[in-house]
Amino acid sequence: MKLNRRSFVKTAVGLSCCAAVPGRAGERTVKPTVERLDQAAAAPILKLDSITSPVRIASIELLRDQRNYYVRTRSTDGAEGIAVTNGRAKYLYPILQQLVIPYFLGKDARGLESLIDGVYVYNSNYKLSGVAFWCPVAWVEFSILDLLGKIARKSVGDLFGGVIRREGPIYVASGNRDTTPEEEVDVLVKGIERTGAKAVKFKVGGRMSNNADSIPGRTEGMIRLVRKTLGDKVTIYADANGSYDAPKAIEIGKLLQDNGINMFEEPCPFDYLEETKQVADALEIPISGGEQETSQRRFRWMIHNDAVQVVQPDLHYYGGFIRATRVARMAAKAGMKIVPHVSGEGVGCVDALQFASFTPNMSPFLEYKGSLEQIGSWYDPPLRRKDGAINVPTGPGLGIVADVLRNAKPA
Ligand SMILES: [Mg+2]
Repeated sequence: MKLNRRSFVKTAVGLSCCAAVPGRAGERTVKPTVERLDQAAAAPILKLDSITSPVRIASIELLRDQRNYYVRTRSTDGAEGIAVTNGRAKYLYPILQQLVIPYFLGKDARGLESLIDGVYVYNSNYKLSGVAFWCPVAWVEFSILDLLGKIARKSVGDLFGGVIRREGPIYVASGNRDTTPEEEVDVLVKGIERTGAKAVKFKVGGRMSNNADSIPGRTEGMIRLVRKTLGDKVTIYADANGSYDAPKAIEIGKLLQDNGINMFEEPCPFDYLEETKQVADALEIPISGGEQETSQRRFRWMIHNDAVQVVQPDLHYYGGFIRATRVARMAAKAGMKIVPHVSGEGVGCVDALQFASFTPNMSPFLEYKGSLEQIGSWYDPPLRRKDGAINVPTGPGLGIVADVLRNAKPA
């Protein structure tokens, strides 16, 4: 089964609700100017009209309960917001505590959109620009959004303009590279059986490996076997984690599209933007990327130049919901989809679910890895997975229940 970028969208029946389809440059219904992309990114986002008094930030703390880290923000009026970090807090905490938190103290939380830009310039923090800086900003942003949502009695989706989805279909992402093709297809089959998911993702290449495979022949064997085994009804993505130069990525990409794979993620190292565009130009299969990207300008370049057809900012690595929404809105102008990359183990999936609840141009399936079983009870209402989809928490803010902090201590 050979798919082009249009049939890729047609075969995917998850979250996709828009008429706009990602396509090759020449097929695009819209090719926005850089100015239009900038306008889309600059438009106001948060709906906070119902909060009429200032919400002064009194404290922001990092808390820990065994291997889990949390950020708790309190206002001078005693309101409280909670966020769950990803695992990188265990070594990024000095950046959080010394460079990020001091900027937010005493500020009015209602100005969060401009505070996110302000902390980047504060004390020349931009010199640290990258995942290590933007993760701590994201955690503070999440906790302030939770705080604002609790004050307004609105879910994060409502703060971002209104909930348009109550559940998110998932794809099961396997991170294995040490399995044989037969073993790996079995992993995917079991993942589908366990979750009811209608989409999966497997790894190709060796991860940032300069064309070397993790096991010689594994990638080609896997590509030839996976569609044949899973059948035509499952959406299948492949992720190279930057394994290839452009010629090798084109060779692997042709094999992927000839074998009915629906998306090719990070064919080249993440900052090889021109090479990624060469790959996209040479292939029909949609290219996705952006999980390590932290620059709005570089996302704009990728979107404007059709270097990827699906953008994948990570809600933690990229600095939170507001910055990712700016990327989503630029992508929408180009008729492109967005699917957040997931870091943060199980919790990262919930962040992506919250983001999907209010983002119109979501890709059909959300990334799912880690274990929902561990964290389901942290949310209001508790998370449940049914027929390959997870319910969006509807409680105020991020819907995290305060009880998650009962054993947490200052980190
Ligand atoms: Mg990836």
